[in-house]
Amino acid sequence: MTALTRRQALLTASASLFAGSSAWAQGDTPWRQERIVDCHHHLRADMASNVAHLDGAGMSQAMPLIQDDKGRDLFLALQARYPGRFVGWKRGVNSMDPNGMETLTKAVRDGALGFGEIKSKVAADSAENQRMFALAGELNVPIMLHFEDTPITGTDGFNTGYKRFEAMLKRYPKTRFILHATSVWANIDAADTGATANPRGKVTPVGLTDRLLADYANAYIDLAAYSGFNGLSRDPEFTPPFLVRHQDKLIYGSDCTCADGHGGGVTGPGAGQCLARQTLALIYRVAPIAVFRKAAWENAARLHGFKA
Ligand SMILES: [Zn+2]
Ligand SMILES: [Zn+2]
Repeated sequence: MTALTRRQALLTASASLFAGSSAWAQGDTPWRQERIVDCHHHLRADMASNVAHLDGAGMSQAMPLIQDDKGRDLFLALQARYPGRFVGWKRGVNSMDPNGMETLTKAVRDGALGFGEIKSKVAADSAENQRMFALAGELNVPIMLHFEDTPITGTDGFNTGYKRFEAMLKRYPKTRFILHATSVWANIDAADTGATANPRGKVTPVGLTDRLLADYANAYIDLAAYSGFNGLSRDPEFTPPFLVRHQDKLIYGSDCTCADGHGGGVTGPGAGQCLARQTLALIYRVAPIAVFRKAAWENAARLHGFKA
């Protein structure tokens, strides 16, 4: 294909996906033969439904995010019952927890491959968070933060002040940061006003997030959640070159809450939709296969040091 026809094909493909006409959003999962790790898997209490979500959306593995000791026990039980499917875990704490540093240090000693997700009602560059950034650098594990300046519900955001976060990337160069959630994705757009959490429409270059990923070796981006899918699906011209440009920084994850990898059990605005499946369908379709493989497995394996 010539560059032009390939580009046209990509635009047409992502425009039709965008319009929701893709069979992949519900049916086939042609990416199923690839190795795919969901790095943003929140554990379901029922053991089988964790695997049902992976199988339903065509994913080989998951890396759960664990917030307490009960979660860790569930992870170990899953690893024993489904060998090879759960490749590692991250540990999250509330930044305000006075025992947080101890908990995180112990988690890494017990095998955690990172911190996260960190979703606290503090400023992103607060002293409480900075203790964690320093610790992640010392222990040589990545940290994933949920940035939400424009509250989706209620009146408070989480890890607020994304526009100031560049200073943290500079101050903690040994710490690898995985940037996640609405403020990260809203700021792919240089013209973003912060008026809505998940803005739609054309992206004006060059947004802060685009620049941070380009300029800082220690900045990675989580493709998970509705914010990730929205950011990648709002402007079909923006997305393919964005994925190529940052191909070594993309970390696939779902943050999906559905029961079965088909959107089951989801009520409200995303009813009947599986975010894992939607985002995989999008990147499988619009990115070169080598970029898909980096996002789905290779970058995460390198970043977290998977043994498998
Ligand atoms: Zn989050
Ligand atoms: Zn799902």
